[in-house]
Amino acid sequence: MFAKRVEHLMPTGAFIFLEKAKKLESQGKSIIHLEIGEPDFDTPENIKEAAIKALTDAYTKYTIGQGLPEFREVIADYIKKTRNIDVGIDEVVVGTGGSSIVFFTILAVINPGDEVLYPDPGWFIYEPTTILANGVPKPYHLPEEKGFSIDIDEIRDKISERTKLIIINSPQNPTGGMLSTKDLSDLAELLRDKNIWIMSDEVYSRILFEGEFKSITKYPVMKEKTVIVESLSKTYAMPGLRLGYGIMEPKLAYKVTSLLIQCNSCTPPFIQIAGIEALTGKQDIIEDRCEIYRKRRDIMIDGLNSIPGIKCIKPKGAIYAFPNIKALGLPSRDLSLKLLDEVGVCCLPGTAFGKFAEGYIRFTYANSESNIQEALQRIKKVATMSVSENSKIYH
Ligand code: PLP
Repeated sequence: MFAKRVEHLMPTGAFIFLEKAKKLESQGKSIIHLEIGEPDFDTPENIKEAAIKALTDAYTKYTIGQGLPEFREVIADYIKKTRNIDVGIDEVVVGTGGSSIVFFTILAVINPGDEVLYPDPGWFIYEPTTILANGVPKPYHLPEEKGFSIDIDEIRDKISERTKLIIINSPQNPTGGMLSTKDLSDLAELLRDKNIWIMSDEVYSRILFEGEFKSITKYPVMKEKTVIVESLSKTYAMPGLRLGYGIMEPKLAYKVTSLLIQCNSCTPPFIQIAGIEALTGKQDIIEDRCEIYRKRRDIMIDGLNSIPGIKCIKPKGAIYAFPNIKALGLPSRDLSLKLLDEVGVCCLPGTAFGKFAEGYIRFTYANSESNIQEALQRIKKVATMSVSENSKIYH
């Protein structure tokens, strides 16, 4: 009845858990939401005001598919400053969130049978989109022992004649890991002479707690091969406004824009005007919020590590904790359901992020300190019960 190409598609894990949590809430149960990866902060006032003004200024018609030239100018300047590379406005494509850039880029470069390497654990869009393009998904492991960074030898081994695209993501969803300067230079060295596109998902580039953000595009030849995926969703707390962009070489930008036009015609112009305000307006709020995330991260990680059976490495960026729960003896989906059903803590099972992610669960710490503290108490209850049940089984 339906096309074969959609057989593998279903709503992502996050939305399934959110729906279940909402149902429990409607029955009067108290739920702490630690599942959806979005800032709990409000969209800054200056951005909202710019969007409202743009509406009254009649930015409500179709516009250029690639994005308003004045917004693409601002983006090009922003990328020049933050990545230290030259970018022209013909290399910028504006889309409805970073997701649309990921989606259309994969469709634009993958032929049937082409292989796509992507991180596992990793954001849950890379694999289904590859399958949709009739590509072959090839996950590479981000081992916990390496701080959820890459193993360059594994990537070298996984590259074949058919590899067409490699996706990297740093700071990373769901682990909070980051690629080090050495990882990036090893990758750049490995990929320099290869005919492989790189997609560098940098949507968490402004939410980091250690050092400075580094993009693979700063290495020789990498910029021409790389599509930078960026988004205003996380940095500016505006995920519902659906605004993101890609930086890519002009011929690819032309193809990605053509796909985008087929689907959306254009990205709403009043939202793009709000995007100009976001990137050019005052930025202190970003740093202030990052400090708040850092405090919450520390509370969450220290709290998780004090619970028997759970251990969690400190995330370097993004808004997620990815604890190892193997000692609790439950598959990650069962534990996530137990946390939701028994104590009202909504999180996501590691398996929503790939097959190497069994034995982990994801919490976001984009929530208030008091909610995080309360969630930790509740998690401890379930973990303590699981540890004692486990020890009954094994002893
Ligand atoms: N890339 C990663 C790693 C993400 O986690 C997300 C959202 O969760 C996105 C891209 C896309 O975000 P948006 O489409 O809201 O810009």
